Amino acid sequence: MTIVNMKAMLNHALENEYAVPQFNLNGLPWAKAFLKSAQAEQSPVIIAASDRVVDFLGGFSTIFVMVNELMKEYNITVPVALHLDHGRSVERCKAAIDAGFTSVMIDGSHATIAENIEMTKAVTSYAHSRGVTVEAEVGTVGGNEDGLIGGIQYAKLEDCVALVEETGVDALAAALGSVHGQYVGEPKLGFKEMSAISVAVGIPLVLHGASGIPEDQVKRAIKLGHAKININTENNIAFAEVLRHMLTKNQTLFDPQAYLNPGQTAIEVAAIAKMREFGSSGKA
Ligand SMILES: [Zn+2]
Repeated sequence: MTIVNMKAMLNHALENEYAVPQFNLNGLPWAKAFLKSAQAEQSPVIIAASDRVVDFLGGFSTIFVMVNELMKEYNITVPVALHLDHGRSVERCKAAIDAGFTSVMIDGSHATIAENIEMTKAVTSYAHSRGVTVEAEVGTVGGNEDGLIGGIQYAKLEDCVALVEETGVDALAAALGSVHGQYVGEPKLGFKEMSAISVAVGIPLVLHGASGIPEDQVKRAIKLGHAKININTENNIAFAEVLRHMLTKNQTLFDPQAYLNPGQTAIEVAAIAKMREFGSSGKA
């Protein structure tokens, strides 16, 4: 199967009350782990590169070729979208689309709502004419959001409605108390606001900063319209823990396959747990 956009997978998820996981890339072992685990679980999957790691990964084209070629190599038959996470500008989104990404997020959440709508509109017009889906963000996710460390700012209902109506965006990240990275204390999501926004906008919602949110709150968020949930930190912790353990235990270990393969397996195990939690297993 070739890489697809998010439209069909997110609409199916929204109708059937489950969420498609977005897993973030940090190198080749991540790409291999996400494709293998999605195929094993028969789950649709969104593989994402956050804008701030694109250069680290070798640029947009390298990322596209890596995922696209691995899909052929592994005979992947489940739907896979390749998505730019937290695109910093209209130009960055266009560059991702030109390289073959099938989906982009334009993050205008740190600008005024009027500027956010302008940026999102520019991206949707470029993307939709090329069969590419677009995600936008309103409000501020807490923690380290692309280098901007700040407090949580709830998305306003009227801003969400205006942005969706004026831009025709395909999915909306409405910040409602989630945090990127690790939580300090118990996460508190705004479920009342979530319900109102979901009903008002009628498009799939996206939950950012889901690593560390308790399962009952995740399930509630799915029931209230979240069809896409982003995971990065938990996969990275699983990978790092295995490497830390192996390299500490064996001071003469140097063969990369001897520690990268177990690291990759740890990501696969973590990813499969998320697919089951989100209800996307068996939905491909
Ligand atoms: Zn995010």
